[in-house]
Amino acid sequence: MAPPIIATEGLTKDYRLGPHTVHALRGVSVTIERGEFVAVMGPSGSGKSTFMNLLGCLDTPTSGRYVLDGEDVAGLSPDALARIRNLKIGFVFQQFNLLARTTALENVELPLLYAGLPARVRRARARDRLAAVGLADRAEHHPSQLSGGQQQRVAIARSLVNDPAVVLADEPTGNLDTRTSVGLLALLQSLNREGLTIVLVTHEPDIAAYASRVLSFRDGRLRADERVAAPLDAATALASTPDEEEAA
Ligand code: ADP
Ligand code: MG
Repeated sequence: MAPPIIATEGLTKDYRLGPHTVHALRGVSVTIERGEFVAVMGPSGSGKSTFMNLLGCLDTPTSGRYVLDGEDVAGLSPDALARIRNLKIGFVFQQFNLLARTTALENVELPLLYAGLPARVRRARARDRLAAVGLADRAEHHPSQLSGGQQQRVAIARSLVNDPAVVLADEPTGNLDTRTSVGLLALLQSLNREGLTIVLVTHEPDIAAYASRVLSFRDGRLRADERVAAPLDAATALASTPDEEEAA
Protein backbone atom coordinates (compact mmCIF):
# COMPACT_ATOMS: atom_id res chain seq x y z
CA MET A 1 0.00 0.00 0.00
CA ALA A 2 1.20 3.52 -0.73
CA PRO A 3 2.42 5.40 2.36
CA PRO A 4 0.22 8.22 3.65
CA ILE A 5 0.92 11.57 2.01
CA ILE A 6 1.40 13.13 5.43
CA ALA A 7 2.28 11.54 8.77
CA THR A 8 3.29 13.62 11.77
CA GLU A 9 4.13 12.42 15.24
CA GLY A 10 4.39 14.69 18.25
CA LEU A 11 5.12 17.71 16.10
CA THR A 12 6.03 20.77 18.15
CA LYS A 13 7.07 24.29 17.25
CA ASP A 14 8.41 26.88 19.68
CA TYR A 15 9.09 30.46 18.70
CA ARG A 16 11.63 32.45 20.71
CA LEU A 17 10.65 36.03 21.26
CA GLY A 18 13.38 37.68 23.32
CA PRO A 19 13.16 36.08 26.78
CA HIS A 20 9.81 34.41 25.97
CA THR A 21 9.01 31.17 24.24
CA VAL A 22 5.74 30.78 22.36
CA HIS A 23 4.59 27.17 22.16
CA ALA A 24 2.79 27.45 18.84
CA LEU A 25 2.38 23.68 18.42
CA ARG A 26 2.39 21.30 21.35
CA GLY A 27 2.63 17.82 19.90
CA VAL A 28 0.47 17.16 16.86
CA SER A 29 0.14 13.61 15.53
CA VAL A 30 -1.93 13.13 12.42
CA THR A 31 -2.01 10.99 9.28
CA ILE A 32 -3.47 12.17 5.98
CA GLU A 33 -4.03 9.69 3.18
CA ARG A 34 -3.84 10.22 -0.55
CA GLY A 35 -7.03 11.73 -1.95
CA GLU A 36 -8.33 13.29 1.27
CA PHE A 37 -9.85 16.77 1.42
CA VAL A 38 -9.04 18.04 4.91
CA ALA A 39 -10.16 21.30 6.50
CA VAL A 40 -8.04 22.72 9.33
CA MET A 41 -10.04 24.86 11.74
CA GLY A 42 -9.46 26.70 14.99
CA PRO A 43 -9.46 30.17 16.50
CA SER A 44 -6.84 32.76 15.64
CA GLY A 45 -3.51 31.88 17.26
CA SER A 46 -4.33 28.17 17.65
CA GLY A 47 -1.40 27.08 15.46
CA LYS A 48 -3.05 26.50 12.06
CA SER A 49 -0.54 28.48 10.01
CA THR A 50 2.39 27.09 11.98
CA PHE A 51 1.13 23.59 11.25
CA MET A 52 0.69 24.39 7.54
CA ASN A 53 4.18 25.94 7.34
CA LEU A 54 5.62 22.71 8.74
CA LEU A 55 3.56 20.54 6.38
CA GLY A 56 4.71 22.74 3.49
CA CYS A 57 8.40 22.42 4.44
CA LEU A 58 8.57 26.20 4.83
CA ASP A 59 9.80 25.72 8.38
CA THR A 60 11.27 22.96 10.55
CA PRO A 61 9.71 21.61 13.75
CA THR A 62 11.30 22.06 17.17
CA SER A 63 10.68 18.36 17.80
CA GLY A 64 8.66 15.49 16.45
CA ARG A 65 8.53 13.57 13.19
CA TYR A 66 7.19 14.51 9.80
CA VAL A 67 7.10 11.98 6.98
CA LEU A 68 5.97 13.48 3.65
CA ASP A 69 5.08 11.00 0.90
CA GLY A 70 7.29 8.36 2.52
CA GLU A 71 10.27 10.64 3.16
CA ASP A 72 11.35 11.75 6.64
CA VAL A 73 11.76 15.50 6.29
CA ALA A 74 11.86 16.80 9.88
CA GLY A 75 15.65 17.00 10.02
CA LEU A 76 16.50 18.08 6.48
CA SER A 77 18.65 21.09 5.56
CA PRO A 78 16.99 24.22 4.15
CA ASP A 79 18.26 23.34 0.63
CA ALA A 80 16.88 19.83 0.78
CA LEU A 81 13.58 21.17 2.11
CA ALA A 82 13.36 23.68 -0.74
CA ARG A 83 13.83 20.90 -3.28
CA ILE A 84 11.15 18.72 -1.68
CA ARG A 85 8.80 21.68 -1.38
CA ASN A 86 9.13 22.40 -5.08
CA LEU A 87 8.53 18.77 -6.03
CA LYS A 88 5.77 17.78 -3.64
CA ILE A 89 3.80 20.80 -2.44
CA GLY A 90 1.44 23.24 -4.11
CA PHE A 91 0.59 26.40 -2.16
CA VAL A 92 -2.49 28.61 -2.32
CA PHE A 93 -2.63 31.73 -0.15
CA GLN A 94 -5.35 34.12 0.96
CA GLN A 95 -3.66 37.01 -0.89
CA PHE A 96 -3.25 35.00 -4.14
CA ASN A 97 0.46 36.03 -4.28
CA LEU A 98 0.56 36.47 -8.07
CA LEU A 99 3.23 38.58 -9.76
CA ALA A 100 1.47 41.77 -10.89
CA ARG A 101 3.38 42.56 -14.08
CA THR A 102 3.19 39.03 -15.37
CA THR A 103 0.49 37.24 -17.35
CA ALA A 104 -1.65 34.49 -15.89
CA LEU A 105 0.23 31.96 -18.02
CA GLU A 106 3.64 33.15 -16.83
CA ASN A 107 2.46 33.11 -13.22
CA VAL A 108 1.42 29.47 -13.58
CA GLU A 109 4.71 28.62 -15.28
CA LEU A 110 6.83 30.10 -12.53
CA PRO A 111 7.34 27.01 -10.32
CA LEU A 112 8.59 25.13 -13.41
CA LEU A 113 11.49 27.53 -13.92
CA TYR A 114 13.30 25.70 -11.12
CA ALA A 115 12.58 22.29 -12.60
CA GLY A 116 14.89 22.77 -15.61
CA LEU A 117 12.26 21.98 -18.25
CA PRO A 118 12.43 23.35 -21.82
CA ALA A 119 10.34 26.51 -22.36
CA ARG A 120 7.99 24.76 -24.79
CA VAL A 121 7.18 22.04 -22.24
CA ARG A 122 6.68 24.61 -19.45
CA ARG A 123 4.34 26.65 -21.61
CA ALA A 124 2.25 23.62 -22.58
CA ARG A 125 1.99 22.41 -19.00
CA ALA A 126 0.97 25.86 -17.74
CA ARG A 127 -1.68 26.15 -20.47
CA ASP A 128 -3.05 22.77 -19.50
CA ARG A 129 -3.38 23.76 -15.82
CA LEU A 130 -5.02 27.08 -16.72
CA ALA A 131 -7.55 25.13 -18.78
CA ALA A 132 -8.12 22.79 -15.82
CA VAL A 133 -9.23 25.76 -13.69
CA GLY A 134 -11.45 27.13 -16.46
CA LEU A 135 -9.20 30.01 -17.52
CA ALA A 136 -7.88 28.89 -20.91
CA ASP A 137 -9.13 32.16 -22.40
CA ARG A 138 -7.41 34.36 -19.80
CA ALA A 139 -3.82 33.23 -20.32
CA GLU A 140 -2.54 36.63 -21.45
CA HIS A 141 -4.36 38.66 -18.79
CA HIS A 142 -2.46 40.31 -15.97
CA PRO A 143 -3.76 39.82 -12.39
CA SER A 144 -5.24 43.35 -12.31
CA GLN A 145 -7.37 42.38 -15.33
CA LEU A 146 -8.88 39.43 -13.47
CA SER A 147 -11.51 39.19 -10.73
CA GLY A 148 -10.52 37.95 -7.27
CA GLY A 149 -12.00 34.55 -7.97
CA GLN A 150 -10.12 34.32 -11.27
CA GLN A 151 -6.87 35.35 -9.60
CA GLN A 152 -7.31 32.59 -7.04
CA ARG A 153 -7.94 30.12 -9.88
CA VAL A 154 -4.65 31.19 -11.45
CA ALA A 155 -3.00 30.56 -8.08
CA ILE A 156 -4.59 27.10 -7.98
CA ALA A 157 -3.34 26.38 -11.51
CA ARG A 158 0.14 27.47 -10.38
CA SER A 159 -0.08 25.18 -7.33
CA LEU A 160 -0.86 22.24 -9.66
CA VAL A 161 1.81 22.83 -12.27
CA ASN A 162 4.39 20.52 -10.67
CA ASP A 163 1.88 17.71 -10.06
CA PRO A 164 2.30 18.03 -6.29
CA ALA A 165 1.56 15.27 -3.81
CA VAL A 166 -0.59 17.70 -1.84
CA VAL A 167 -2.02 21.22 -2.17
CA LEU A 168 -1.93 23.34 0.99
CA ALA A 169 -4.33 26.27 1.03
CA ASP A 170 -4.28 28.80 3.90
CA GLU A 171 -7.62 30.70 3.97
CA PRO A 172 -7.92 30.59 0.16
CA THR A 173 -11.44 32.05 0.23
CA GLY A 174 -10.65 34.70 2.86
CA ASN A 175 -10.69 37.51 0.29
CA LEU A 176 -13.63 36.27 -1.76
CA ASP A 177 -17.37 36.85 -1.50
CA THR A 178 -19.60 33.90 -0.63
CA ARG A 179 -20.64 32.92 -4.12
CA THR A 180 -17.10 33.15 -5.48
CA SER A 181 -15.90 31.08 -2.51
CA VAL A 182 -18.38 28.33 -3.28
CA GLY A 183 -17.28 28.42 -6.93
CA LEU A 184 -13.69 27.96 -5.83
CA LEU A 185 -14.72 25.07 -3.57
CA ALA A 186 -16.48 23.45 -6.52
CA LEU A 187 -13.16 23.59 -8.38
CA LEU A 188 -11.25 22.15 -5.40
CA GLN A 189 -13.84 19.39 -4.95
CA SER A 190 -13.59 18.41 -8.60
CA LEU A 191 -9.77 18.34 -8.43
CA ASN A 192 -10.07 16.27 -5.25
CA ARG A 193 -12.36 13.79 -6.99
CA GLU A 194 -9.67 13.35 -9.63
CA GLY A 195 -7.33 12.32 -6.81
CA LEU A 196 -5.73 15.54 -5.58
CA THR A 197 -5.00 15.64 -1.83
CA ILE A 198 -6.00 18.99 -0.31
CA VAL A 199 -5.41 20.51 3.13
CA LEU A 200 -7.29 23.78 3.55
CA VAL A 201 -7.23 26.19 6.49
CA THR A 202 -10.40 28.10 7.19
CA HIS A 203 -12.03 29.68 10.23
CA GLU A 204 -15.46 29.45 8.60
CA PRO A 205 -17.57 26.36 9.36
CA ASP A 206 -19.51 27.09 6.14
CA ILE A 207 -16.32 26.47 4.15
CA ALA A 208 -15.17 23.45 6.19
CA ALA A 209 -18.53 21.80 5.44
CA TYR A 210 -17.25 21.03 1.91
CA ALA A 211 -14.29 18.97 3.20
CA SER A 212 -14.44 15.27 3.99
CA ARG A 213 -12.51 15.61 7.25
CA VAL A 214 -12.12 18.42 9.76
CA LEU A 215 -9.10 18.87 12.06
CA SER A 216 -9.76 21.35 14.87
CA PHE A 217 -6.84 23.08 16.58
CA ARG A 218 -6.84 24.85 19.91
CA ASP A 219 -3.85 26.22 21.83
CA GLY A 220 -1.39 24.39 19.60
CA ARG A 221 -3.09 21.04 19.98
CA LEU A 222 -5.27 18.95 17.75
CA ARG A 223 -8.55 18.90 19.67
CA ALA A 224 -10.79 17.05 17.24
CA ASP A 225 -10.41 14.97 14.11
CA GLU A 226 -13.78 14.34 12.48
CA ARG A 227 -14.78 12.56 9.29
CA VAL A 228 -17.65 14.25 7.50
CA ALA A 229 -20.10 11.58 6.40
CA ALA A 230 -21.72 13.68 3.69
CA PRO A 231 -19.76 16.82 2.75
CA LEU A 232 -21.73 19.55 0.98
CA ASP A 233 -21.42 19.53 -2.80
CA ALA A 234 -20.26 22.97 -3.94
CA ALA A 235 -21.49 22.59 -7.54
CA THR A 236 -24.99 21.82 -6.24
CA ALA A 237 -24.84 24.72 -3.78
CA LEU A 238 -23.75 27.04 -6.57
CA ALA A 239 -26.61 25.99 -8.84
CA SER A 240 -29.15 26.80 -6.14
CA THR A 241 -27.73 30.22 -5.11
CA PRO A 242 -28.85 33.36 -6.92
CA ASP A 243 -26.24 35.14 -9.01
CA GLU A 244 -27.09 38.69 -7.91
CA GLU A 245 -24.90 40.59 -5.47
CA GLU A 246 -26.68 40.88 -2.16
CA ALA A 247 -27.95 44.35 -1.42
CA ALA A 248 -25.62 45.97 1.12
P1 ADP B 1 -3.23 30.65 13.49
O1 ADP B 1 -2.78 30.47 12.09
O2 ADP B 1 -4.10 29.53 13.99
O3 ADP B 1 -3.88 31.99 13.72
P2 ADP B 1 -0.39 30.71 14.12
O4 ADP B 1 0.14 29.37 13.78
O5 ADP B 1 -0.14 31.82 13.19
O6 ADP B 1 -1.95 30.60 14.46
O7 ADP B 1 0.19 31.13 15.55
C1 ADP B 1 0.23 30.25 16.67
C2 ADP B 1 0.92 30.99 17.81
O8 ADP B 1 2.30 31.17 17.49
C3 ADP B 1 0.37 32.36 18.10
O9 ADP B 1 0.42 32.58 19.49
C4 ADP B 1 1.32 33.29 17.37
O10 ADP B 1 1.35 34.54 17.98
C5 ADP B 1 2.63 32.55 17.50
N1 ADP B 1 3.54 32.78 16.35
C6 ADP B 1 3.29 32.45 15.06
N2 ADP B 1 4.34 32.77 14.27
C7 ADP B 1 5.29 33.30 15.10
C8 ADP B 1 6.61 33.81 14.90
N3 ADP B 1 7.18 33.83 13.69
N4 ADP B 1 7.27 34.27 15.98
C9 ADP B 1 6.70 34.25 17.20
N5 ADP B 1 5.47 33.77 17.46
C10 ADP B 1 4.76 33.31 16.43
MG1 MG C 1 -3.09 31.71 10.37
